[in-house]
Amino acid sequence: MRRAGAESEKSRYMAKKPPTVEYLVVAPHPDDAELGMGGTIAKLVRAGRRVGIVDLTSGEPTPFGSPAKRRKETAAATKVLGPACRENLGLANRELEATLAARVKLAEVYRRLRPKVVFVPYWRDAHPDHLAASRLATEARFHAKLSKTRMAGEPHYPPRLLYYYCTHLRSHADVAFVVDISKEFETKVEAVSCYRSQFFEGRGRQIGAVVEYVGDTCRYWGRMIGRDYGEPFAVQETLGLEDLDAVL
Ligand SMILES: [Zn+2]
Repeated sequence: MRRAGAESEKSRYMAKKPPTVEYLVVAPHPDDAELGMGGTIAKLVRAGRRVGIVDLTSGEPTPFGSPAKRRKETAAATKVLGPACRENLGLANRELEATLAARVKLAEVYRRLRPKVVFVPYWRDAHPDHLAASRLATEARFHAKLSKTRMAGEPHYPPRLLYYYCTHLRSHADVAFVVDISKEFETKVEAVSCYRSQFFEGRGRQIGAVVEYVGDTCRYWGRMIGRDYGEPFAVQETLGLEDLDAVL
């Protein structure tokens, strides 16, 4: 009986505990997670890992999008990739800045979801929102571990930051490793293609050009590791390996 009591106590505690994730992708706009690392997200989900996505802004306005359209496209792409959760922080699109208030907001997400790995946009980019997102997501990591604050949640310092390329610079400098996404490439293309207002509608002769670019770069990075398709990542801290089996 005592055991049953203890069990129900435990399940009551677990029920009160908010769900956490192992991997959290921070994206400036809805579509950046898909463009930069949609294949890796699909791969992690397929392996049974809990992945979360936090979009920092609505991504709107854009020439052919609207907030409602973009939300619908994001929901469709999320369904394709299958992360455990996705949320939008509601920061200002086109005006994103790594302010203290924004840092606190994102740090509270880290404290609630408690990821062990946070995927952050690469630190060099042409888009000011992307630059701000990279800085903000990096700084929020340190802020999330602070004690004696008014922030919600318990202190948490994500052990690892990995940088992905959703860059407007058409450049992939500092690549540290490439994830083989040969089996997930089609899923990535399907997810990216959900954003009709961004890559297809009103594009004229440029229709689908971004999706083609995604295919070309994934193919290139796949070739670099002797596979069909790959997604590159960068690091700022030395990366450790538990064992060498993961090395291709
Ligand atoms: Zn973006």
